[in-house]
Amino acid sequence: ASAKVVVIGGGFGGATCAKYLRRADANLSITLVEPNRQFVTCPFSNYVLGGIRTMDSITHSYDALRTKHGVDVVHDTVTAIDPAGKKVTLASGRTLPYDRLVVSPGVDFKWNAIAGYDERASQTMPHAWKAGPQTVLLRKQLEAMRDGGTFLMVAPPNPFRCPPGPYERASMVAHYLKQHKPKSKIVILDPKDAFSKQGLFVAGWDKLYPGMIEWVAGSKGGKVSAVDVRAMTVEAELDKHKADVINVIPPQTAGTIALRSGLADEKGWCAVDPKTFESKVHKGIHVIGDAAIAGELPKSGFAANSEAKIAANAIVAMLRGESVGEASYVNTCYSLLSPDYGISVAGVYRITDKGIAQISGSGGVSPKDADAQFRKDEAKYAFGWYASITADAWG
Ligand code: FAD
Repeated sequence: ASAKVVVIGGGFGGATCAKYLRRADANLSITLVEPNRQFVTCPFSNYVLGGIRTMDSITHSYDALRTKHGVDVVHDTVTAIDPAGKKVTLASGRTLPYDRLVVSPGVDFKWNAIAGYDERASQTMPHAWKAGPQTVLLRKQLEAMRDGGTFLMVAPPNPFRCPPGPYERASMVAHYLKQHKPKSKIVILDPKDAFSKQGLFVAGWDKLYPGMIEWVAGSKGGKVSAVDVRAMTVEAELDKHKADVINVIPPQTAGTIALRSGLADEKGWCAVDPKTFESKVHKGIHVIGDAAIAGELPKSGFAANSEAKIAANAIVAMLRGESVGEASYVNTCYSLLSPDYGISVAGVYRITDKGIAQISGSGGVSPKDADAQFRKDEAKYAFGWYASITADAWG
């Protein structure tokens, strides 16, 4: 009988892995378990908030995985993993045996790490850090906000999904407000003292949205301890802030199923062998994407896609008793500050004695003094990147 691989999660990591498992082995039995019938990407969800993309354009179907790549896509939720018995249990009660398991559940939130911010509070103060109904809710709140109102974001502590994401979001909200509610303000309360592509973001904000965005660093009062949904206030170290729309991006951990099955460490993330992404806790289980500790690779869709391909090839080699090849890992994160103003950070990574580390001299960030045409070109590359990575994962 052919070997069986089960993949948990049909996002950037899981969908890519299922497809590349098929590419590596035509005979493998591949089952992908994902509760949602369609996948809404976090990448470009900030552009929905900015009014330059529709929800439809960031929604992808699982049809190609089924019909073109022979993956059995099961719409269900994995509720338990049995590493010794090599099987998973689904919410429906069904069990699926596996020879190797891939776990790519993304992130979950540490509810109540900020007092008063639980799942219910996210219906009033959306996180929109998983794309879908939360994105739509936040967009509606922006549309309903008065001109002259305040949009307040509570940024997350490290490590979190998409390091430049909060700051790209602030840019896209500014893009929308500048056109429709130009008297409004954006305040970012950040527990950190620095963030990804900070110099480029701040220079772009000064140019495109002068005076509109205020970023408060952790050491200057940015640390938030509590929220009050009814009063629409946020309790920071030095001040209580009131706002019209509040976007709380909470501290994160690996997806719940990874925690529940003992794959995560005490900080909530999963240690893996960087060459195969096999868990350091349970043999036969590979953790990829945001849930994994992948050295210097960021928690990005691009990195999840890169890790998925490496894991797929490692799994097929291990099932055949062959040796696993040496891989290199890639990441690029584009951010749009406006539809015509893009910036990026890129890197190529290798395994070193410290784990996955960026090859010195590879990649880097966009030049500081680039002209308008350069920024426009980078914005164009961002759209090209999205089209190609989503075709790679779900096409
Ligand atoms: P996901 O893509 O989230 O997939 C996880 C899947 O697992 C989900 O579909 C979930 O339903 C499923 N799942 C969870 N638990 C179970 C279970 N128990 N059983 C079955 N299924 C389960 N990255 C970039 O590279 N470029 C960008 O421009 C970019 N922009 C971003 C903007 C925003 C606003 C945000 C929030 C993120 C952005 N990212 C970007 C990051 C990117 O979204 C994540 O890094 C990526 O989704 C990680 O892939 P993953 O497979 O780990 O998780």
